[in-house]
Amino acid sequence: MLAIHGGEPHKKKNFPGWPIHSEREIKLLEEVVKSGNWWRITGSKVKEFEEKFSSLQGTEYCLGVTSGTHAIELGLLALGIEKGDEVIVPAFTYISTVTAVISCSAVPVLVDVDPETFCMRPEAFEKAITKKTKAVIPVHMGGHPCDMDFICDIARKNDIYIIEDSAHGHGAEWKNRRLGSMGDLGIFSFQNGKLMTCGEGGCIVTNDKQLHEKLFLMHGVGRPDKDPYYQHYVLGTTARMSEFHAAILIAQMERVNELNQKREKQAKYLDQLLEQIDGIRPQMRKADATIVSHYMYMFYYDADAFRGMPRQEFIDALRAEGIPSFISYPVLSDTEFFKNSQFFGKIDAYSYDTEEELPNARKIAKEVVWLPHYTLEGDVIDLEEIAGAITKIQKSL
Ligand SMILES: *Cc1c(COP(=O)(O)O)cnc(C)c1O
Repeated sequence: MLAIHGGEPHKKKNFPGWPIHSEREIKLLEEVVKSGNWWRITGSKVKEFEEKFSSLQGTEYCLGVTSGTHAIELGLLALGIEKGDEVIVPAFTYISTVTAVISCSAVPVLVDVDPETFCMRPEAFEKAITKKTKAVIPVHMGGHPCDMDFICDIARKNDIYIIEDSAHGHGAEWKNRRLGSMGDLGIFSFQNGKLMTCGEGGCIVTNDKQLHEKLFLMHGVGRPDKDPYYQHYVLGTTARMSEFHAAILIAQMERVNELNQKREKQAKYLDQLLEQIDGIRPQMRKADATIVSHYMYMFYYDADAFRGMPRQEFIDALRAEGIPSFISYPVLSDTEFFKNSQFFGKIDAYSYDTEEELPNARKIAKEVVWLPHYTLEGDVIDLEEIAGAITKIQKSL
């Protein structure tokens, strides 16, 4: 009997927990507490984190900030994006990719994604370019890299800035280049669910010294480093990362490559298991994606192969069997704030929804199920239990 009807859950052992920590986090955190230097201006941990993270991602510079959302907003502002400018974004992503654009009074132009990798289609990006286009924000969906050769090529030809939204892509690579290092700027999130976390946090990486210096000023209300005189050089906000957050991140970062390797191995095996189940089709992986970080393990669910069981019911049943699972992001133009134009005067109207109806984003939003990354951080038994739970549901119908 299905667990949702009172039967025994199929999953017998627990998945690894998330977030994880060791004595290392505790030791570094304690160092900060006892040092009395709790903010970056007097402490050393944020600086250390920035140096280590930029070398992890293969960039010259990194700036720690308060969230991934703030990282995108600051990035856009530092690039000079302003009222009336257009910024091209994928229609299938977490909402921040788009709200950050609106927060800068720029107009987001939503374009479709690839039906197999779920990443922005470079052809759709190219087609959406107008005279007003100033930037593009490719999102490396679930840690699968976008086609950065194609995207960089189009952007360069058209004088368009690139911000790589790498919130899912810590340590991931496209053709042996780390995510965030190929655009003008790359952003990361360290929010609780992300692949390394300090509860809330983010950062901006770049190879451009001037941009980095401008971002430093902007993330501290325009003040230069160690400024004792209340000098304010540019308009900014307060988005500095604290020493506590950096202490945790230094420890978290030490596990990133190892966890990526583990998830890569586990995801390949789970692909094999799930491909044998009628009606289940995992996100595809391109050969040029040399490291995929698997922030979300995503697959299409075809209700027809499950006697028409709606996706939400399937997820409820799967959860009852002990497998954490979720529906994918909505198409962003379908969210309430877009439908009701709740833009607080930042932009006049949302008039740039593509004429193309975003068919792939729509299909993904309707049919895709995802499992969190920690489901790939245990052992092969976990994977066999995931496949077993899905098969159990299918056979019971
Ligand atoms: C999490 C996330 C963000 C925003 O990060 P926060 O730290 O939560 O502000 C941006 N883009 C994507 C794709 C994300 O998943």
